[in-house]
Amino acid sequence: MTTLEVAGLHKHYGDHHALDGIDLTVRPGEVYGLLGPNGAGKTTLMKVVLGLQRPTSGTIRLFGLPYDRSLLAQVGALVEVPGLWQHLDAVAHLRVHARLRGVAERWIDDVLDQVRLADVRHRAVGKYSLGMRWRLGIAVALLVRPRFIILDEPTNGLDPVGIREMRELIRTLAGAGTTIMVSSHQLGEIAQVCDRVGVLVAGKTRYEGPVDGLAVDGDLEAGFFRIIDSVGGGVR
Ligand code: ATP
Repeated sequence: MTTLEVAGLHKHYGDHHALDGIDLTVRPGEVYGLLGPNGAGKTTLMKVVLGLQRPTSGTIRLFGLPYDRSLLAQVGALVEVPGLWQHLDAVAHLRVHARLRGVAERWIDDVLDQVRLADVRHRAVGKYSLGMRWRLGIAVALLVRPRFIILDEPTNGLDPVGIREMRELIRTLAGAGTTIMVSSHQLGEIAQVCDRVGVLVAGKTRYEGPVDGLAVDGDLEAGFFRIIDSVGGGVR
């Protein structure tokens, strides 16, 4: 059984092929890194998987089953900076989301502990750092106690400390048995947390496999850039 299986996925915006035949497989229990330069199609792919965008063609299977929106109840996601109400604290945010998703409020304490926001639970989020905001976004995603969690560039804009905290959080979630797909355009960030990676360039899957398999003469970055350069730098 696979957690996510994408085959021949296309998403066209007019003449522009944001996804141009994506194939990839996320296995249960792994941290899967979705890599690619700006504009490669990472966010579009995640939005299509989450039912936020309609694919032009292709197939998606979730948890081994043909795609069905009801399966999304088991998927948590953080795509783009979460919209937050500045004057509300973390607990109030989570209460609103718990109600929206029909989740028992008793999980709120659990998820605040998981993302390590318990100490600042009563601080208005307007006073949160960007790293704290991202973590609150992940707390919202965790409320449904997902089997699979999708994170779109959760280290965007973070300083090195925030990036390290995010890596630790991803590892903790994975250690607790959650399958994770995380995107980044930074190879270094992904290499340290992921079991396998998929490299998208200009809407196509150009590599899928273990992080080490990307390396050229032991150099991961050289391997990553070789893939990008082989398709004209992936600039679109
Ligand atoms: P980044 O790392 O910059 O976030 P990405 O890999 O997530 O990039 P996408 O945001 O998926 O890339 O975009 C893929 C391509 O599709 C880009 O060329 C983008 O301009 C285009 N695109 C995305 N959304 C739309 C839209 N709603 N309408 C038209 N074109 C779009």
